[in-house]
Amino acid sequence: MSFKHSVRDSWLAASYAVGVSELYKKLWGRKRGIISYHNVLPLSKLPHFDTYNVDQTVEVFEKQIQFLQKHFRILPIQELGNPKAEGFFITVDDGMANNYSLLAPILDKYDISALFAVCPALVNGQYPHIWRDHLFLLLRQYQHQPIWLPFNHYREPLQVGINGETLNKLTRKLKKNVYEQQVADIYGLLKEICQKNEWSYELSDDEPLRYQFMNWSQIQDLHRRGHSIASHTMTHRVLKFLPDHEKQYELIESKKHLENQLGTSVDTIVYPYGSLAEIDESTIAIAQEAGYQLGLMNIQTHSLSHPMLALPRFAFPPIDTPAHLHAIASGYKFLFR
Ligand SMILES: [Zn+2]
Repeated sequence: MSFKHSVRDSWLAASYAVGVSELYKKLWGRKRGIISYHNVLPLSKLPHFDTYNVDQTVEVFEKQIQFLQKHFRILPIQELGNPKAEGFFITVDDGMANNYSLLAPILDKYDISALFAVCPALVNGQYPHIWRDHLFLLLRQYQHQPIWLPFNHYREPLQVGINGETLNKLTRKLKKNVYEQQVADIYGLLKEICQKNEWSYELSDDEPLRYQFMNWSQIQDLHRRGHSIASHTMTHRVLKFLPDHEKQYELIESKKHLENQLGTSVDTIVYPYGSLAEIDESTIAIAQEAGYQLGLMNIQTHSLSHPMLALPRFAFPPIDTPAHLHAIASGYKFLFR
């Protein structure tokens, strides 16, 4: 940890201990917040590599929920569309198997309802994984051989363990390339990489809890138990890079699919990735046309129009120290950036 961070953390701990952050919360603190979660896993299943830092252990997740119930208010998810409701909401992205088997039982234990954002094409098995996980698993599977990749136009192979290359670095470089080149057909790019390297596009299913999706009966069951289901688009691509007709497919088709599966209307879209690098005004306009009432981002502030279709969210890092959680939830921490 850097010196700056350790000074900040000591300050947060002291503020919490003497009640300054509690006072801040009462006077100026965040009154309403939407928290995003992804995977909740047993400690032994946490991957060594987590590009997006989106994995939590079961233990830490439960502590965070206990913390929120003690110091803040967790509201029923049905209140999400009510701008006057003060408190916090729990949302869970991507629809992975661990959401059903590990995360949801903890919510049930504390009598909390949440919003689960799922991608119908991935549930249907159209693609084996979200592309970023697929990419990581491919690279990991073939890490002991030379790897040809598009960011140097397949001219020279790279190899993990040689010239300082790590699995981590290679995956990051490819992600960066996707964003720089604004690759709309990411799954096509993965197919291309497989062809150039003579790899199989399909992967052996290891760690199903981390890398498999919930099936429809599990999603329906969550809905029956009082949780809400949102669209997370059909295929989890970067919306901003897609032409309008593809954006429409992602937003309209996913809504229809979910409504058919659940027998109810689906009025919330959780944009994949959720920052301004992935969402633009045309995304918001198409979400509105598609009939969504609520749209969730993954950032705190932005300049997009239509506030209810671009609601901010924040996430907790995988920590359970009350001082730090309190500072993030109340907004106190952001005074020290
Ligand atoms: Zn996602």
